[in-house]
Amino acid sequence: MTFREDGYAAIDWLVRYRERVTDAPVLSPLRPGDVRAALPSSAPEEGEPFAAVLEDLDRVVFPGLTHWQSPRFFAYFSTTGSDPGMLAELLIAGLNNVGILWRASPALQELEETTLDWLAGLLGLPPGLHGHIEEGASISTLAALASARQARPGSRVVVCSEHAHSSVDRACKVLELELRKVSADDEYRLRPEKLDLEGACAVVATVGTTSCTSVDPVVAVADVCERDGVWLHVDAAYAGAAMICPEFRWAFEGVDRADSIVVNPHKWLLVPQGCSALWTRRPEAFRDAFSVVPEYLRTPDDVVSFSEYGPELGRRFRALKLWAVLRCYGAEGLRSRIRESVRLAELFESWVRDEPGWVVAAPRHFSVACFRRDASDEENEELMHRVNARGRIFLSHTKLDGRYVLRLAVGSEPTTEADVRLAWEELREAA
Ligand code: PLP
Repeated sequence: MTFREDGYAAIDWLVRYRERVTDAPVLSPLRPGDVRAALPSSAPEEGEPFAAVLEDLDRVVFPGLTHWQSPRFFAYFSTTGSDPGMLAELLIAGLNNVGILWRASPALQELEETTLDWLAGLLGLPPGLHGHIEEGASISTLAALASARQARPGSRVVVCSEHAHSSVDRACKVLELELRKVSADDEYRLRPEKLDLEGACAVVATVGTTSCTSVDPVVAVADVCERDGVWLHVDAAYAGAAMICPEFRWAFEGVDRADSIVVNPHKWLLVPQGCSALWTRRPEAFRDAFSVVPEYLRTPDDVVSFSEYGPELGRRFRALKLWAVLRCYGAEGLRSRIRESVRLAELFESWVRDEPGWVVAAPRHFSVACFRRDASDEENEELMHRVNARGRIFLSHTKLDGRYVLRLAVGSEPTTEADVRLAWEELREAA
């Protein structure tokens, strides 16, 4: 087999995968250890044909997949590795550029600069921000908080709402910062009047929390941060994508005043996993926190390398997939997909609201509906596990005000109204 034939076979495999993914159990039915038990205990001594890898993809890997590409994946934040994103990922691997410094791949760095400028423009962010791409929002937030810590020596407290993502907890753990959590109001938003910035180097405000997509009042938080000279980091990892549509911009008021902001194109903008956009108006603080240039990387080039703004030295050519997606969908194509996700979540929520015995559990701002049976937590939990075990859809949960809440997250490109209807029927039947 040649590279070309194997390559076509891999694409054919993906085409067949797409044809059968809708009917496969969305949540893998395997038990822990099943995949390992089906694999040899050591690597082969002699090379095998690539076709053998594809065969085992069917035999061993497929049953062990939870199908994130299924139109009926409604858990966490559902995502799509779109066609242009997927093909660009192949090209990224084929080119295998390693962005350790500008001259190691001028195209890698300059395409990253350009695509992040484009994306900032589409999201309505102010011009002139410095943008770069990290692998995920956890790394982006870690980088932002490391920069905030560097910018305010001696201040080692980070403040966020009780609903901030656990990546903030993790960044504080790694950076040895103290985390002070502020209670939220009855719509799960940070209460700005509760902000105590004594000893703080940063506040993290979330636009689109993971549990229920609540929106912290960024304008009021920015006022307090500016008054006290504290770094404001905005985590819009999921909901930031919605800024591409003017009708959702209300949720991002004040974001232009943030010192740093993270939006994940790999969540709701059709880019495959591994693409987190991080912008800052204080790039020098990032360089102070991260820049280390050993002798072997010194060059006479009059340009700063992106590896000086974050924790990675060898950087993947992630901009290529963002570039491909932005070009192939265009802003209008992306807007229409965001709007369709929101429409479907809204529709699902209306069915919940209209059905006795079910309740909407939180205000819905974007494409996630939070709901529960009007019953005990145990019954709701059991209901979710029962529905997931049937395999036709996959949902996840959260806790709000101490109560067990189910979430239906729409975001997958192939999801249709029929899939959302099926989800509702599955839930009603199981209830
Ligand atoms: N921030 C928010 C609001 C999230 O919802 C998530 C993940 O869902 C993250 C950060 C972490 O994102 P990542 O998996 O890209 O590190």
